[in-house]
Amino acid sequence: MSNELNLSYLQSLDDATILVVDDQPINIQVIYQILGDQYQILMATSGPEAIKVCKKSMPDLVLLDVVMPEQDGLTTCKKMKLDPDIANIPIIFVTGLQQQSEENACWEAGAVDFIQKPVNPSTLINRVKAHLLLKKQSDLLRSFAYVDGLTGVYNRRFFDQYLANQIAVCKRLQQPIAVMIIDIDYFKKYNDHLGHLAGDDALKLVAQRLKAVSKRPADLVARYGGEEFICVLPNTDISGASHLAEKMLTGIRELDIEHPTSPLGQVTVSIGVAATTDYKVNLTQLADEQLYLAKQQGRNRLCYAP
Ligand code: GH3
Ligand code: MG
Ligand code: MG
Repeated sequence: MSNELNLSYLQSLDDATILVVDDQPINIQVIYQILGDQYQILMATSGPEAIKVCKKSMPDLVLLDVVMPEQDGLTTCKKMKLDPDIANIPIIFVTGLQQQSEENACWEAGAVDFIQKPVNPSTLINRVKAHLLLKKQSDLLRSFAYVDGLTGVYNRRFFDQYLANQIAVCKRLQQPIAVMIIDIDYFKKYNDHLGHLAGDDALKLVAQRLKAVSKRPADLVARYGGEEFICVLPNTDISGASHLAEKMLTGIRELDIEHPTSPLGQVTVSIGVAATTDYKVNLTQLADEQLYLAKQQGRNRLCYAP
């Protein structure tokens, strides 16, 4: 057996998706013929449609025409770079423009590269490959920085940034926002009795179930500490958040993980929930206070404020 790490999967771009945007379908067709064998190709014939497709399908790369009626490529690119959901998707302009000032405008809009029309197939193939590889590597780095290695949910660092970001969004839209903290009951006893590896397995199962129960795209589940998870629920009031917390309690009981040294007999959680439209309050602290109450009142339950 070789001791060398096999990192070849990093080089594999087979599953990559590329969005091709051009108001003239014939131009899309040309690119499709060059790249269609190798990648999954999505198409859009206007800027607004391109943004919609990006939000829905999250392509790995966008090939964007500059001159389009209604909303040109530069405007489309700038809009995408301002939208945090899709700002990370690299954009290559495909352009017939020749002027230096026009090239400069492409860079300033936030493009990573541009390709001249009429397209040279070899240049297109190699530029696309280079940028897909970069994208894949930066996604991987981001995942190391923001994902919890054991459970696969986001880590606390990501939670902190996401919460701050979503408070700003909810404030702007005048929507409520909720946070809940979920703590496994008697987990020290679980580890002491069954061992740390069994504890790790239980943590993974709990994390997966919490994630499965929270279904809205903006809901976030993160690992907050050892056996604590935390959720951000944008545009959710206290009744909505409590409802979701109930589902989480049920979901964890349904896992039916035996816990011989818990008075409850199985792995359960306690949940503290807080929601607000006062964007200055410390939601995490409020949720933590409610968690404390849920523990005091016997665990395997939720408490909420206000
Ligand atoms: P309570 O019901 O009051 O929450 O009691 P508890 O035992 O769950 O809480 P406590 O804070 O006393 O202990 C938390 C335990 O969680 C300590 C440790 O054994 C376990 N734990 C924390 N992180 C990990 C981990 O990454 N893996 C495993 N297996 N166990 C962990
Ligand atoms: Mg704890
Ligand atoms: Mg605990």
